[in-house]
Formats: sequence, C-alpha cells, structure tokens
Amino acid sequence: MAAKKPRKAPAPVLEPAECKPCKGAGEVSRAVYVGRKRRPAGQQTGICLACLGSGEATD
Ligand SMILES: [Zn+2]
Repeated sequence: MAAKKPRKAPAPVLEPAECKPCKGAGEVSRAVYVGRKRRPAGQQTGICLACLGSGEATD
C-alpha cells in the first residue's frame, strides 16, 4: 500500500485588491463648491487619495 502523498494546496491567486473609494479607477469625482454659501459648481475628478491613483487597495 502506497503512502498517501501530502496534497499540495493550490497557491492562492493573488489579485490586486480593488480600491474601494475609486473602484479601481484611480480617480474619484467630487463636488466642487464655490462662494461663501458653498454653491455646488459642478463635479471635478481628482486623484484618489486612498490609492494615490493606482486603483489598488494598499492594505
Ligand atoms: Zn483609489
């Protein structure tokens, strides 16, 4: 009777985690307000501060 070989566990596939705030886009859109009354002036896209534009979660 042959001894059982220890089964090798398949290596986990390491996918880069998607950054949540920008959903992997690396950019986030945010509203821009102007004036003392902070009137919304539109949307502006900016670099995602959570991943710094890489689109991948850092943790
Ligand atoms: Zn991000």
